[in-house]
Amino acid sequence: MANNNFCCKCKTGQATIRIRHAFYCHDCFLFAVVGKYRTILGKSRSMNRAKGKVLLACSGGPSSISMLHMTKEFMHVEPYAKKKIQVLDSALVCHIDESALFEAQNGSTQKMKEMVEKEFPNMDFLSSSMQDIFLKDFTKDADLDTVLKGMDGSSDYDYLVKPIKQESTLNSETDRIDRLRELFNGINKNTAKEDLYWHIKMTMLVTLAKKEGCSYIFMGDTATRQAIKMISMTGKGRGYSIPFDIGVENDITFPGLTILRPMKDMLSKEIGLYNRFKDLEKYVIPPTDFNTGKPAKSSIERLTEEFITTLDRDFPSTVSTISRTASKLTPLNDMDLSKKCAICNMPYQAGIEDWRRRITVTNVKDKSPDAIPNEEKKKLDDSMIDMNEYLCYSCQVDMKDYKNDTVSRLPPYSVKAILDEYLINDNDEE
Ligand SMILES: [Zn+2]
Ligand SMILES: [Zn+2]
Repeated sequence: MANNNFCCKCKTGQATIRIRHAFYCHDCFLFAVVGKYRTILGKSRSMNRAKGKVLLACSGGPSSISMLHMTKEFMHVEPYAKKKIQVLDSALVCHIDESALFEAQNGSTQKMKEMVEKEFPNMDFLSSSMQDIFLKDFTKDADLDTVLKGMDGSSDYDYLVKPIKQESTLNSETDRIDRLRELFNGINKNTAKEDLYWHIKMTMLVTLAKKEGCSYIFMGDTATRQAIKMISMTGKGRGYSIPFDIGVENDITFPGLTILRPMKDMLSKEIGLYNRFKDLEKYVIPPTDFNTGKPAKSSIERLTEEFITTLDRDFPSTVSTISRTASKLTPLNDMDLSKKCAICNMPYQAGIEDWRRRITVTNVKDKSPDAIPNEEKKKLDDSMIDMNEYLCYSCQVDMKDYKNDTVSRLPPYSVKAILDEYLINDNDEE
């Protein structure tokens, strides 16, 4: 295999593993992989300020399983450090069940639960299903009976909706599963489906983390995933919020909560080997999404994945180069954090509206808050709302792929975010 058969680190062990151009023995490989995790925790601004309870987002994919295992090691003592220090004291494994959307995920919750009980007994386990997004638990003070109805007359630059009351159709689990499926079936393109799916999942994780008193969410994004996201998100027009979407540490978007990506320097191959050496492969649930089994052109993300993994085969530095670049991105200084997109919860660029108005001719009325008389402010009955005013550019683009009545199936958190922002001085009449 190698020119010399010795490990590049210890120089004495038999080299059995090749990562890019370097050869490692079994022990040095594990040490190097775990070291990457430890470095990220060690460098974290928030971790150095205050430790706290961690929510570990666990889909069951290979990287999330490795992350659980590494976290477990840091909950006792640092396995390879001379000074034995416990880095984390309490952790909660959180699994979002996607089986309502992807049949292959049936039974994932049970499998994760059994794994946690057996392998990670000092961690708690929590799960929620995607369709629970329609429960009040995920939208404080939500009015589940109000939906947004798409109206005629929208142009390329606005998306006119009207809030209407309807008899609640979300009473049972089956109702909520139906609503979730209708929502996704009502979106034409896989790119827009994937985006919404991801935003809903993130909203759930953040809500659960806050409810459980966690100060951290650990996400299992690998270097490979981060590189794919960086390129595909740029293509989708998410450049503005990209440092938050994929950055190693985001302590800005959600007050009191830090999102950390401790796996972000690891390659998929390293994760695969780690799981094999630690006998974790049996727990891995192969990830499924809207592109599973579809050709590369089925979405921007899928196409990017194909592009990057192919490139990386011949140029093994591709992933780490892109992912290092991604880590250097920082949010703009003058970013307005008070306004968040009603679908993806990320800050959006102020002035998109003005920019759009400048380059186009529309007859949307001026809805700056001062221009609306008080009386009108309170009434939603006959309000026509341009939804685009409450969305980031990328979510606006995705909305173009929504079929006619799909907007009326959006989760309550989005509806509430839009209406709250619209009724700035909220005076509920009922
Ligand atoms: Zn070695
Ligand atoms: Zn958005």
